[in-house]
Parts: sequence; C-alpha cells; structure tokens
Amino acid sequence: MKALVIDKHDGGQQAALRDFDEAGLMEGDVTVRISHSCLNYKDGLAVTGKAPVVRRFPMIPGIDFAGVVEASAHTGFKPGDAVLLNGWGTGETHLGGYAERSRVKGEWLVPLPSGLSAAQAMAVGTAGYTAMLSLMAIERHGLTPDAGPAVVTGAAGGVGSVAIALLHRAGWRVIASTGRMEETEYLTGLGADEVIDRASLAGAPKPLGKERWAAGIDSVGSATLANVLSMTRSGGAVAACGLAGGMDLPASVAPFILRGVALLGIESVMAPRAHRTEAWDRLARELDVAKLDAMTRTISLADVPQAAEEILAGRIRGRVVVEIGG
Ligand code: NDP
Repeated sequence: MKALVIDKHDGGQQAALRDFDEAGLMEGDVTVRISHSCLNYKDGLAVTGKAPVVRRFPMIPGIDFAGVVEASAHTGFKPGDAVLLNGWGTGETHLGGYAERSRVKGEWLVPLPSGLSAAQAMAVGTAGYTAMLSLMAIERHGLTPDAGPAVVTGAAGGVGSVAIALLHRAGWRVIASTGRMEETEYLTGLGADEVIDRASLAGAPKPLGKERWAAGIDSVGSATLANVLSMTRSGGAVAACGLAGGMDLPASVAPFILRGVALLGIESVMAPRAHRTEAWDRLARELDVAKLDAMTRTISLADVPQAAEEILAGRIRGRVVVEIGG
C-alpha cells in the first residue's frame, strides 16, 4: 500500500511517501481502509522529528483517520462500517493514518457519527475533538455563558478555530487571542465577538490581573496560560490542552487560592470511550458545517511533509484534511 513512512537512519529520521508491505501492519482485530486523515500539531512534530513523538521505526505517522472497515474479528464492527479513530498512540507507537490501511484494536474505533462524512470527521480531527473535550470539561465544572466571556488562545489554529465555533454555538461571548490580527475577519466569521493580540498575553504574568473572562480554552501554554489564569474571574476555569507556545507554566498560585480558579487538564489520546462518544455525538450535532468548511483545506499525502513544517511555524490556519484514497 501507499504510505508516508518515517524511517530512522544515522541518528536522524526521514519521512517519505513509499510503498509499505501490508504484512507489516501491526496487531489488531480490525483492518480499516482509510479514506481521510488530517494534520495536527503533534503530526507536525512527528513528521519533522522536532520532538520525540515517534517511538517505533519504521512509523506511519497520522494520529487520526477515518475510513471503512475492511475486515473485523471484533464483535462491534463488521466490514463496510464507517469508523474514525483519534489517538491511542497511532502515529506514535502504532502505525497511523497516513496510509491506505491500518490495523487496530476495535475498542479504539468510534463509529462515524451520522451527519458527518469521513472528510468532515477529519476536518474536526483530534484538534476539534480536543476542543469539544475542553468545552465539556468547562461545562462539567458548572460554568455557563452567564458567568462571563470565554477566551480562546491559539485562536487561528486547529483547536482554537473549532473551540471558537463550539463556544459561540453554546452561547458564550468569545474572546479570541491570536498572533495573526489579519485573521480578524476569519475569527469573527467563526463566532468570535472580540479579537485580541496574543502579545497582550505574552508578557511576564502578574499573580493576579484584571478579571476579564470566566472560562478559557488554551492551546498555547507557557506565559500565555499563566496570563490567562491571572485574568480569570473568581470561580472560573481554564481548560489547558496545548503547548504551542511552550511546555512550561510560569504561573502563580494566586488565581487558585484567591479566586478559586480551576485549571482543567485535557488529554485526548487515552480519553475514555464514553467521553469520546459523547464528544463526537455533540460535534456532529453542534458544530456548524459551514464554519467547519470555512476553516478547512484539503491536501494530498505528498503535501504532508511541507504542511508539517508550516503547522510548527504557526502558519496553518484552521484545519487540514489529508485525502488518502477511496
Ligand atoms: P495549530 O498549530 O493549528 O494551532 C496552534 C496555534 O497556537 C497557532 O495557530 C497560533 O495561533 C498559536 N501559536 C503558535 N505558536 C505560538 C507561540 N510561540 N506563542 C503563542 N501562540 C502560538 O495546532 P493545533 O491546534 O493542532 O494544536 C494546538 C496545541 O494543542 C498543540 O500544542 C497540540 O499539541 C495541542 N493538542 C493537545 C491535545 C491534547 O490531547 N491535550 C490534543 C490536540 C492538540 P495564532 O496564530 O492564532 O496566535
């Protein structure tokens, strides 16, 4: 089959489009014929080798895929079923989605929600599903739009774009933080009520700042997350899901102990099945398809190495679907 394969050589790694013997597919009870995958920040790290995401060589990267079951020994799936997969180590420890086929454990698969095509599911991808997990965490904390606005950092990226659309649909006033003020029209089109320059959240964080929002979805980390926390209203909560600005957190405990602010960690890769199913059901119902289309472009497998460089450079707007085959 055709696949994007990362091979290791001389202490480095190289990603190339090549033939891959299907006999080399990994253990699993379901084989899926993949029609679409997508590009996430983690895929960028894997394909370029800029962080040690890949734990096995050769590796087929791609942490997400959607397609049709070709063969199954799992009672929950039969040939012809439309399915999708996010995470579980695919593209890291298990051969992933940038290929015509993948063999995985059936328990990793989610039936394609009705109302979403395979291409649309991959326009959502891990980034969009993580945005929904973040919204669900904020809601589980008991927050509603009455509490005040919600801030979204990394707003023009994948997680950020979907987060804006979902928060807007759920009735929140959305403040979008971006380094690309030229994308203001794009962001307001997705549902942002206000767009702020990310430079305003990049300075040395104070222990407490002016209270500006009740909730946040942060895909940036580092000083940005610390600033977001310091500006969160009493009783508010911030879902932390990313590290596009850095893995550190130069924060004070002041927001936690003086304002009762909560920091909600979001982890999508090993998220329990019940959360996944709920997230995907809600995405199918609540994500405006016209907005999803507006934030998505489609590339081929051959374009992935270039796009991987671009996502790490913060130059990708919204989401990228990777078209694999029929
Ligand atoms: P994108 O590259 O699409 O989006 C990241 C955005 O962050 C960029 O578009 C940019 O937005 C902003 N940004 C980039 N670099 C910096 C910087 N140095 N300082 C401040 N802002 C910056 O990536 P994704 O949306 O796919 O992923 C976002 C993050 O979420 C990644 O760190 C990813 O690893 C993480 N993630 C975590 C998951 C989990 O399970 N916890 C699952 C999915 C993603 P703008 O130009 O608008 O400022």
